[in-house]
Amino acid sequence: MSLKLKALTKSIWVYHLCVGGSCNNCDIEILDLLTPRYDVERFGIMLVGSIKHADAILVTGSLSLKAVERVKRVYEQATKPCVVIAIGACACGQGIFAKGPVTPNPVDSLLPINIYIPGCPPKPEAMIMGIVKLIKKLTDKK
Ligand code: SF4
Repeated sequence: MSLKLKALTKSIWVYHLCVGGSCNNCDIEILDLLTPRYDVERFGIMLVGSIKHADAILVTGSLSLKAVERVKRVYEQATKPCVVIAIGACACGQGIFAKGPVTPNPVDSLLPINIYIPGCPPKPEAMIMGIVKLIKKLTDKK
């Protein structure tokens, strides 16, 4: 396991990226993770404001045509390895925006998703469990 990957599994710094079609409820649930009730920072999970500091991208929403180029640019700027986590039904499979005129393609047609956390919106507990499973998956790979 590379040093970067090892560090990543100890303390994941996450960047939140909404990719277009969204009711923003998933975004609110992500913020809930940071409140004293869930306090994910105690596990080393930190929300960062720059993609260049991120180990993981938390993707929410259904990919809109207008966002495609921007999402590509954001992912290109991420230091690798960078894991991608789809949060919510919209990011996992387009959800309520399926077959919409401006959201014809799923997020995983553009980004390599490492783990899917379904729900509309998923509960913070489900997000924590998803991240823990991802860490386990990465450490088991070695
Ligand atoms: S998955 Fe549900 S809660 Fe999340 S952005 Fe889509 S519609 Fe909103």
